[in-house]
Amino acid sequence: MGKTSKDKRDIYYRRAKEEGWRARSAFKLLQIDDEFNIFNGVTKAVDLCAAPGSWSQVLSRRLNQNYQKLKETSTDVVAPKIIAVDLQAMAPIEGVVQIQGDITNVTTAEQIIAHFGNEHADLVVCDGAPDVTGLHDMDIYIQSQLLLAALKITTQILKPKGTFVAKIFRAKDASLLYSQLKIFFTSVTCAKPRSSRNSSFEAFVVCKDFCPPEGFEPSSLNPLLSNFDHLPEINKYIAPFVICGDLSQPDSDTTYPLDFEGKKFQYCEPTQSPISPPYEEAMALLSITNLGKDPNSVTLKGNTMTIAEF
Ligand code: SAM
Repeated sequence: MGKTSKDKRDIYYRRAKEEGWRARSAFKLLQIDDEFNIFNGVTKAVDLCAAPGSWSQVLSRRLNQNYQKLKETSTDVVAPKIIAVDLQAMAPIEGVVQIQGDITNVTTAEQIIAHFGNEHADLVVCDGAPDVTGLHDMDIYIQSQLLLAALKITTQILKPKGTFVAKIFRAKDASLLYSQLKIFFTSVTCAKPRSSRNSSFEAFVVCKDFCPPEGFEPSSLNPLLSNFDHLPEINKYIAPFVICGDLSQPDSDTTYPLDFEGKKFQYCEPTQSPISPPYEEAMALLSITNLGKDPNSVTLKGNTMTIAEF
């Protein structure tokens, strides 16, 4: 496969590199914001499941632009604070505090609130995805559990009236998830950005106006809906479905020529190579150059070792 074949097949992948985003997912958050104005008035934001960091880049660029604009007319403006959480290490992003940890861990919410000087966030976003197993039902189940875990930590770190955006798989039981979200938010919408492939059942819930039910006690230790007796009955809720981005935005399922929209194509390297990716060990093993030639030694990245040393 040629070096540019992915650039041809996936216009958002190509644009991400041209515009300096670490992943094409950046466009999903940008298109969600264009439709729902989620960054309006936000000074404290949390990016759950953030690596490699394109959503954190979007938060950093957009919140800082808003801050600079407000500063022109007022002296009483607060600089944005952004926190990114992921199991994996992430290359640094200016203005983003990183926590390498698990969103299901009891201490993660406490660490976030401590970074905000004991205040709560205005916005929580989560693009979390578990490693896909290929077993459709299993993948959907694990994704829904991750969404509930994100909702649980969000109930501990989000301000009243705050906004929560998270990835959801539009599958059989999605309406149960919408109903559970509707317990905590006045408005729950299912959004499909044009940069998210039609062929993928991925979508995003945009939940506005956080208002937990009376008597709800956010807790890291109890299951999310353990004090269910005090909560209003969940009725089946069908979330409105909104496509984000109009027809002027490229279609993520279309193959475009390399020279496009009057621009001559120039190959760009990815913005940020992964740091310590899970496939690193396999790549190292692939670089064993004399495998099979000498049964007693291997050459790994130029160093020859005996099999016993290896
Ligand atoms: N939004 C990111 C971006 O734009 O660069 C991409 C996120 S990637 C699709 C999903 C991430 O979810 C992975 O980096 C994975 O490590 C993270 N993740 C999955 N389960 C997690 C958990 N329990 N706690 C923290 N991160 C988790």
